[in-house]
Amino acid sequence: MDDAMDDAMDDTLDAIIVGGGMVGAAVAAALGQAGMAVALVEGDGPPEAIADDAPFDLRISSLNLASQQLLEEVGAWPFIPEARRCPFRHIEASDETERRHVHFGAADLELPDFGHFVENRVIRRALWQRLAELPNVTTHCHTGPVAWLPGSHRTLLELDNGRLLAARLVVGADGAGSRIRELAGIATRDEDYGLRALIINVRTCLPQQDVSWQRFTPDGPQAMLPLPGQHASLVWYGSPEDTAEREALDHEALRQAIEQAFPQRLGGLEAVLGRASFAIRGRHAERYVRPRLALVGDAAHVINPLAGQGLNLGLQDAADLTERVTAAFWESQDIGGQSLLAGYARARRPQTLAMIAAMSTLHHVFTGAAPLRQAGAAGLAVADRLDAAKRQVMRRALGL
Ligand SMILES: Cc1cc2nc3c(=O)[nH]c(=O)nc-3n(C[C@H](O)[C@H](O)[C@H](O)COP(=O)(O)OP(=O)(O)OC[C@H]3O[C@@H](n4cnc5c(N)ncnc54)[C@H](O)[C@@H]3O)c2cc1C
Repeated sequence: MDDAMDDAMDDTLDAIIVGGGMVGAAVAAALGQAGMAVALVEGDGPPEAIADDAPFDLRISSLNLASQQLLEEVGAWPFIPEARRCPFRHIEASDETERRHVHFGAADLELPDFGHFVENRVIRRALWQRLAELPNVTTHCHTGPVAWLPGSHRTLLELDNGRLLAARLVVGADGAGSRIRELAGIATRDEDYGLRALIINVRTCLPQQDVSWQRFTPDGPQAMLPLPGQHASLVWYGSPEDTAEREALDHEALRQAIEQAFPQRLGGLEAVLGRASFAIRGRHAERYVRPRLALVGDAAHVINPLAGQGLNLGLQDAADLTERVTAAFWESQDIGGQSLLAGYARARRPQTLAMIAAMSTLHHVFTGAAPLRQAGAAGLAVADRLDAAKRQVMRRALGL
């Protein structure tokens, strides 16, 4: 680090969070409410208010119980209006024929629900509302880092608006294309699954159900995820070509195509309300930490969204890291110290690797050759009858 530059900095913050998405904002809220001086650097603007009766956005996430607990602990959960969240109490997964399936019920685990489906923008907005209550968190919007200069006691971060910030710890939460990861010279392993997912918001004929439904087909999964009222979010995987064709249909033609491709028992659709498609890709940072830097969320890992666990994994990074940092802060220890960061990486990388392996297995089993698919389907049927195994799978998925 340039000494003259270092001397020019007088205010050393505790932490700088790069990226104010859901994961970065959760980290900022957790550290801010523990009393640390935090700067949140966000490339975009602050999230806008969302009216209770606004149309549902296409990007939604299933928050598991562990994620929900984190949002409660950082004080953001009360800002998520009831009208914008949908609890789910059943999870159903099957092979393409639906003859072999597995069902999980929250009541089997004596839980009121498994979690909630909430729009990403609502989660992010709730976190930023909480941040606004924390005077020791400052936000720097419409800017991002151009230089990362680690030192022995603190790190300097230069922003593209000319500001220079210094902190004991920098947290990289700037998503899949993380700039801070690049500045720190951390490489990634990328995987292209060669699929796209069409996300479609629909108005259903039936009233809202509390079932998260998924069917694995050789072309990739189909899912129907509940939203409040007579609304649902459909996920339809396919080849890039098939997905482009579906995406080009007008709303009514797409509605008919869905009714043909999805099982009738899910109920009819009144209307298609919106759609968008995403490439299915994986990305994993080769390391999660560098001196005085930790990566969290999609900056560290992007997983196949087929089981809707990406954000849950990211929020668990946030929970693990902030717990370690807060403990060190209260004990007046170095919150960006090497052993703290190494402990974080040791705890979180295996969790991500296990999740990547599980998603990869699901993907390959159900899109693979016929014998493999039959074995996968048989596995679902067997799993449905094994109570102990089911409970274990569920507890893991719920982050319990
Ligand atoms: C189709 C699809 C469906 C999904 N469904 C689910 C689901 O059901 N459940 C689930 O758990 N996960 C799901 N995921 C995954 C989930 O959306 C992501 O894991 C999650 O959004 C990651 O959050 P993040 O805060 O780490 O990153 P992001 O949401 O990408 O946020 C990054 C933030 O950093 C900011 N930023 C970017 N660059 C810079 C920069 N240079 N400087 C400053 N700021 C910057 C961005 O503006 C943004 O605010 C899904 C993903 C996809 C693609």
